[in-house]
Amino acid sequence: MLKLKNVKSCFTPNSIQEAVDILKKSDGKAVIVGGGLDITVFPNPTIEQLIFLNKLGLTYIREDDENIKIGATSTITDVAKAPVMQNYLKGKVKIALTELASELLRNQITMGGSIARHHFYSDILPALYALRAKIMVSGGEFVEEFFIDDFYRNDLKVLMESCIVVGVHLNKYDDSFQFGSKRFVRNATDIALLNMAILAQIEEDIIKDISISVGSRPGPAYRFEQGEAFLRGKKLTKVLAEDFGLFTKSNVDVAKDMHLSREYRQHIAGIYTKEILLDFIGGVG
Ligand SMILES: Cc1cc2nc3c(=O)[nH]c(=O)nc-3n(C[C@H](O)[C@H](O)[C@H](O)COP(=O)(O)OP(=O)(O)OC[C@H]3O[C@@H](n4cnc5c(N)ncnc54)[C@H](O)[C@@H]3O)c2cc1C
Repeated sequence: MLKLKNVKSCFTPNSIQEAVDILKKSDGKAVIVGGGLDITVFPNPTIEQLIFLNKLGLTYIREDDENIKIGATSTITDVAKAPVMQNYLKGKVKIALTELASELLRNQITMGGSIARHHFYSDILPALYALRAKIMVSGGEFVEEFFIDDFYRNDLKVLMESCIVVGVHLNKYDDSFQFGSKRFVRNATDIALLNMAILAQIEEDIIKDISISVGSRPGPAYRFEQGEAFLRGKKLTKVLAEDFGLFTKSNVDVAKDMHLSREYRQHIAGIYTKEILLDFIGGVG
C-alpha cells in the first residue's frame, strides 16, 4: 500500500451498509480493497480512502443443495483448497484455479477483486462464464443476484460506486456435466494470451447443453455462442472434435495485440476446443 501516497484514511467497516456509505460519500476517492494486488500494482493518485472488508465475514465457501457459495474476500487458494471443490466437476475447476498465476498471487487474488476489476486477461472470468455463475452484489440493504452475462452488461464503474460484490454462486452440476479449461501462456507465471473454458452436458454421447467462453482475446471474456449452437444436439465423437476445432478457428472472435497475431489466437483457440472435447470423450461413462 506504500505506493498509494495520497491515502489519508483506512476503514474496516462492521457492515456492508457502512462500507457502501463510506464508498458513496467519498466522491470517487475511496476504493474497496480485495487482495489489494491491482490497487498497488496500478496505484491511482486520486485514491484517499481504503475500505477493507475483513470484518464483513465474506471469506467463506459454503454449499447447499443447489449451489456452492463463495464469499467475495475468499482468495483463489481458499477456493481451490475448499473440500467441496475436490470433486466439483471431477476436480477440473480446482485444477483450473491452481494453474493460474503463481502461488503467491493466488494467495492474494480474491474472487470479489477479480469480478469487480474485470481484467481482460483474467482466467477466473472465463471459468465463471462457462459455469454460468451468479454474481451477488449488495448496496447495503439488499443483495441482488446477477447472472454473470447480465452483470457485465452493467456499466461497472457506475454500479461499483454504490455497491460491492459480496460473493459468487456456482450451480452444482450432476455427473452428466463435464468441465475443461485451457490457458495459453509464455511461461508459468505470465498472464494468459488466450484462455478458454467449456462446460458440457453429455448424455448417451449427445451434447445436450454447452457453454463455451473465451478470454484474453485480447478483449473481455465472452460466450462463444456460435460454437455452442454448432455443438448442441450433436453426437460427441473424435470427428466432431476435429470439425469443431476448425469451426472455432474460423469463427472465434479474437484479435491481435502486441503479443500475438489474430491468426495465431485463432489457431490456438481451434486446438484448445478440439483438445477439451477429446478430453470429454475420455471422461464419458
Ligand atoms: C502481477 C499480476 C499477475 C496476475 N496474474 C493473473 C493471472 O494469471 N490470472 C488472473 O486471472 N489474474 C491475474 N492477475 C489479476 C488479478 O486477478 C487482478 O489484479 C485482480 O483484480 C486482483 O484481485 P484483488 O483481490 O487483489 O483485487 P484488488 O486489487 O483488491 O481490487 C481490484 C479492483 O476491484 C475492486 N474490488 C475489490 N474487491 C471488491 C469487492 N468485493 N466489491 C467491489 N469492488 C471490489 C477494487 O476497488 C479495485 O478497483 C494478476 C495481477 C497481477 C498484479
